[in-house]
Amino acid sequence: MDTPFSTLAGELAGLEANGLRRTRRLLETPQGARVTVDGREYVAFCSNDYRLAGHPELIEAAREGAARYGVGAGASHLVLGHTKAHHALEEALAAFVGLPRALLFSTGYMANIGIVSALVGRGDAVFADRLNHASLNDAALLARAQLKRYAHLDLAALERQLAASRARRKLIVTDAVFSMDGDLADVPGLLQLCERHDAWLLLDDAHGFGVLGRAGRGTLAHFEADSPRVIYMATLGKAAGVFGAFVAGEPDVVEMLVQRARPYVYTTATPPLLAHALARSLDLIEREEWRRERLWALVGVLRGRFEPRRWRLGASTTAIQPLVIGGNEEAVSVSSALAGEGLLVPAIRPPTVPRGTARLRISLSAAHEVADVERLARVLATLQ
Ligand SMILES: *Cc1c(COP(=O)(O)O)cnc(C)c1O
Repeated sequence: MDTPFSTLAGELAGLEANGLRRTRRLLETPQGARVTVDGREYVAFCSNDYRLAGHPELIEAAREGAARYGVGAGASHLVLGHTKAHHALEEALAAFVGLPRALLFSTGYMANIGIVSALVGRGDAVFADRLNHASLNDAALLARAQLKRYAHLDLAALERQLAASRARRKLIVTDAVFSMDGDLADVPGLLQLCERHDAWLLLDDAHGFGVLGRAGRGTLAHFEADSPRVIYMATLGKAAGVFGAFVAGEPDVVEMLVQRARPYVYTTATPPLLAHALARSLDLIEREEWRRERLWALVGVLRGRFEPRRWRLGASTTAIQPLVIGGNEEAVSVSSALAGEGLLVPAIRPPTVPRGTARLRISLSAAHEVADVERLARVLATLQ
């Protein structure tokens, strides 16, 4: 009982007792709609990769990148890790999203930490939607800015907070597509509030980039929104199928991040082969509309086929379709029952989502067949 870590053992047992202990499965194939996990084949609805992670053209581009640049970058961007591949990708990303300048980060988590802590600090305030991704909340805490959270999508509450604030700088931070709910932030409404209250908007488009808007340009394009007040962040490990993240916006914002964002300055640049592969991924995203068309068709199939009795699908129009179950243990047991039928759908529990809203997070992908989605709806109907 009195090992040096016995208090941790107690906490871990508590997680187990509350249905909150998480485990990892062993994936043996590329990410996709059909996967082998722990030796068994499944149809998976778990991935944020909407089709590209195992794409042969990207695998080839990664090989080409490795041959040209080697495997590791070997230094941070500001020392000697910033290759032509990184630079060309930054230029392509800025052009793609229609913003003046872009900057690569290693991950979305690091980008959010870096952006918020470089741009605001003591005496400033961050205004955050309650259902934002954890990285945005962590970022505000690390920046030591005042953190004000508003009820999900409640712009009236946000406006009251903005009006009452005496902060020197006001930064609104929000998921563009909410990662566990699949619904969208009202970007035009948020930009109006920014104008009225002299605030900036950090828009985290992890789930919109590559999927929403003309040619997959993301949530700003979806709303045809454009403002110098936007600091746009998107990840490159989801729809783009590779790894990494970027920030885009006004040149002075981006330059400040180069100078001051600690997760940019004090870390090794990502392998240039990834940047090389991402340039190809961007081409595929832009050229191949069929993936997005298919995704929207599959969303329609799921929502058309699933008949709610005990459980309801959240109000999402995107590839993320939450089926809210409520209790942690019940969500886990439904997820296990689906796995028994060869269907992998993750159970998402607190603290990732609010208490009492444990859910199955169904992620659709252009790699699914209509028949896969129909089968999921059928099996769910027998379980509820
Ligand atoms: C996935 C995600 C992130 C983190 O991105 P990574 O590149 O995986 O670190 C940040 N914000 C949101 C909304 C996400 O869904």
